[in-house]
Amino acid sequence: MKTEKKGWKEIPIAGVCWKPSTEYLTGDWKTYKPVRDPEKCKLCLLCVIFCPDGAIHWKPEENDLEFDYNFCKGCGICANECPFKAIEMKL
Ligand code: SF4
Ligand code: SF4
Repeated sequence: MKTEKKGWKEIPIAGVCWKPSTEYLTGDWKTYKPVRDPEKCKLCLLCVIFCPDGAIHWKPEENDLEFDYNFCKGCGICANECPFKAIEMKL
């Protein structure tokens, strides 16, 4: 049966995806997820800056952070960069 899908050789160089990145929930790529210990967290917000996926949100109205597991890919950068060791990567 012939497929209508293009092979990789037929796709133009620098082809652009037609969906915005917000429509791709990439969070299921992860094996480990970051879990923050609010007792250790000093709200320095370094993890927000370091997260390459913008998956940690500062919520000023709650004076707190929130991990968006729909987009967190489990890279562990936040846990590595937290100066207070307040984030642990868990299964
Ligand atoms: S880097 Fe660590 S201490 Fe700073 S806000 Fe993030 S979890 Fe809290
Ligand atoms: S594990 Fe990676 S993607 Fe997930 S919140 Fe931390 S820095 Fe962001």
